Amino acid sequence: MGPVLAAAGLAVEVAPVDTDAFGTFSGEVPRPGPPEQVVVAKARAAMAASGRHIGLASEGTFAPMPGAPWVTADIELVTVVDDRVGLVVTERAHAPMPLVAVHVHPEDRATLARVAGDIGRQAVIVRPTSGGPGGITKGVADPDALAGAVARAASVSDDGLATIEADLRAHLCPPRRVVIADATRRLAARLRRPCPSCAAPGFGDETTELGLPCGGCGLPSGDVRAITVSCPTCGHQEIRPVAGVADPARCRWCNP
Ligand SMILES: [Zn+2]
Ligand SMILES: [Zn+2]
Repeated sequence: MGPVLAAAGLAVEVAPVDTDAFGTFSGEVPRPGPPEQVVVAKARAAMAASGRHIGLASEGTFAPMPGAPWVTADIELVTVVDDRVGLVVTERAHAPMPLVAVHVHPEDRATLARVAGDIGRQAVIVRPTSGGPGGITKGVADPDALAGAVARAASVSDDGLATIEADLRAHLCPPRRVVIADATRRLAARLRRPCPSCAAPGFGDETTELGLPCGGCGLPSGDVRAITVSCPTCGHQEIRPVAGVADPARCRWCNP
């Protein structure tokens, strides 16, 4: 995030905040609210901890992919808060993220060797397949540590198996870092865009409205009809209609 925001004139420093208090992917701590609120709360916690008047935070969620709900997506939000001018700007990016869990017996050398070959690229969490709550090892990034973590988890699991899954914390998950960088680039671009009404930076909060008329029957389709662009500070809106008509081949009336 640092190099991207440097281009927008912001120097990033790390604040001493325990972000696990805002929820953990491994499930021990539930997220205290929707991601759009949690990312702002994190930024404010960083401001409180550092004494700065500008805060920056990111928040990741795994959810159905927008537009392709059968795929799991990593959705990353990045927010900047500036209390001197009452500014809160959030940008987002998403990418498909396959989530695969492997259930393994401690003596299954072939599976352990295959996972060990992968964890140079992606750290894993090892947990008991059933039972618990103990026996969890997070951040396993060393092939030599894998067998021990699997043996520990399997020994307290009701079925004697351990579950290995990706450790999704951003510092251990390179695919998430790519999406966070993408969201940060979008945020930096937004911060350079002033609102035409109040001149606050960050114009461009987008919401879409569906219902572009079908080219065959003229009834509303599932395609985007208009994009509303708004200012997060004063609420000024510009509605940008989408030109053209929707393809009748995708119309539920013409082509059910
Ligand atoms: Zn404005
Ligand atoms: Zn139609």
